[in-house]
Amino acid sequence: MSKVAEYLSEHILGEVTTNKNTLSAFSTDASVLSITPEMVVYPRTTNDIRKIARFSWQLAEKGHILPITARGAGSDQTGAAIGRGVIVNTTAHMNSLFELDSKQKLVRLQPGVLFKTLNDSLALQGLHIPSAPSSAAYSTVGGAIANNASGILSGKYGSTKNWVHQLEVVLASGDVLQTGRISKRELNRKKGMQTFEGEIYRQIDNLINDNQELIDSEISSDIRDNVGYSGIEDVKRSDGSIDLMPLFLGSQGTLGIVSEIIMRTEFLNTQVGIGALAFDSYDAARDAIDDMKQLEPSILEVIDGQQFEAAQKRGKKYAFYNEARQQSEIGAVLVFGFDEFSERVRRKKEKKVVKLLADKAVYLVIARDTSEANELLLLRDVSSYLLDPTDDEQSAPPLVDGAYVPSERFEDFAAAVALLAKKHHVSMPLYGHAREGVFYARPQLHLKKVSDKQKIFKLLGEYSELVTAHHGHLIGESAEGRLKAPFARKQLSDEVIDLFAAIKSIFDPQGILNPGVKQDVELKALVAMLRPDYDLRSLANHSPSN
Ligand SMILES: Cc1cc2nc3c(=O)[nH]c(=O)nc-3n(C[C@H](O)[C@H](O)[C@H](O)COP(=O)(O)OP(=O)(O)OC[C@H]3O[C@@H](n4cnc5c(N)ncnc54)[C@H](O)[C@@H]3O)c2cc1C
Repeated sequence: MSKVAEYLSEHILGEVTTNKNTLSAFSTDASVLSITPEMVVYPRTTNDIRKIARFSWQLAEKGHILPITARGAGSDQTGAAIGRGVIVNTTAHMNSLFELDSKQKLVRLQPGVLFKTLNDSLALQGLHIPSAPSSAAYSTVGGAIANNASGILSGKYGSTKNWVHQLEVVLASGDVLQTGRISKRELNRKKGMQTFEGEIYRQIDNLINDNQELIDSEISSDIRDNVGYSGIEDVKRSDGSIDLMPLFLGSQGTLGIVSEIIMRTEFLNTQVGIGALAFDSYDAARDAIDDMKQLEPSILEVIDGQQFEAAQKRGKKYAFYNEARQQSEIGAVLVFGFDEFSERVRRKKEKKVVKLLADKAVYLVIARDTSEANELLLLRDVSSYLLDPTDDEQSAPPLVDGAYVPSERFEDFAAAVALLAKKHHVSMPLYGHAREGVFYARPQLHLKKVSDKQKIFKLLGEYSELVTAHHGHLIGESAEGRLKAPFARKQLSDEVIDLFAAIKSIFDPQGILNPGVKQDVELKALVAMLRPDYDLRSLANHSPSN
């Protein structure tokens, strides 16, 4: 054990390890990148995290950078949950649910709680948090906040940032910040404090005042764009009040480490009307999406038929798809859901679906009971079957997940993606959350082959250009991390890049919090980080059907 690891081990309640196997296990997340850390720390308390940060800060003052990467379950797909210094893993001990205030529908918890565990517990009280990502069974609430994750209900209920009420954050200096909206008067008091927190309030307030026009014109937008520190738009209100919390949402551990959370919750309706439609072409499905959107479904997933074919080759069969396939070739499948509390309203909407689309679809099923509904809902997990490698070690890693494309541009975009895939001799079936316009494409690759490794960055670059050309955003869901940052940042003006850099240096002047994430990274450096294989089976409890 190094002296640094020994020092930390002596001073915190949690454990510190430099065991080779552990370091290897923490050297990957769910991205195609890999970095071996110096040590892994399992903090037990906020105070442990404070001590780690304080120690790293003091080392930085002496010229030695010991980076800190906060980590939940490590299911990040952008290489943001790996780093060369200390990995601070919250899942081991900081995974308690503290209290539920059912009157105010607020729940207080630690960051290492799995999202599904939280929602399962809330369900006992008739509540839930509807922004859960599809990885909820094996990813944490802290990770979801740091990535601003979203899921199948986000088209109706928004992403995780809409459900965070308050955060306790350990700052780079080891000081602890409680977020919350403070009045202009309170802000002036904070700005007078001779602490790191006071310094942050002073500098952020000045930064916003100096850049209000830029923020209003280039960052404020209704369109989904999660890149950089776009939360800056929500920090200061016209009454002069400030809340720093929006900056941490989607910041991937680069501004502070979340140590405690208060989330807002919503009433849960377990009686959701679920159905699925199969179409002979993607274009036909796209037209149906426009009709479906008018009915305001809570779920509207579109899945390319190719994904079902690929899953079949891996041994996974879906009864719905097979039955539809008997009628015709299947271009795309739509899975929809209505979650209105009134059964009458749900039934009315289902009838409208039949009226509008029964003739246009090849096959239509509306679930009659929970078991049928659950079976149809599983259709949306089909892409997970492609993540793990085949026997000849091909896999479909998530390279370009989560781009936002406006619906009026989607038809052209899908055609352009098909051409891109053809050019690079890969299959790139699209699927996504149709209501919000967020799409995924997972090209099938053989990561042991140099030629396929080279394709990764070509595909990323060219896909990102297509997204921009179709007026979308590469980072419509989750955040850009290491892998997508060089491409996502091309969509930003120099002024916005400077603004984001200024935010980073206010919170992390020594550059110790997850360096290399949400920053410019040389492609050469990323190439050196590429994994020789891609396999998610090591991800705790990872199972496509979760
Ligand atoms: C099969 C699959 C499906 C997925 N589906 C979705 C989806 O539907 N929607 C979606 O948005 N994402 C999805 N993801 C990506 C990922 O699972 C989510 O973003 C998830 O919320 C990350 O949680 P985690 O606990 O794994 O975080 P990690 O991967 O451990 O960390 C993610 C980021 O958060 C930071 N972080 C973690 N904990 C803290 C903390 N306490 N304080 C500060 N920073 C912290 C890390 O440094 C890192 O930058 C998917 C991933 C996989 C593999």
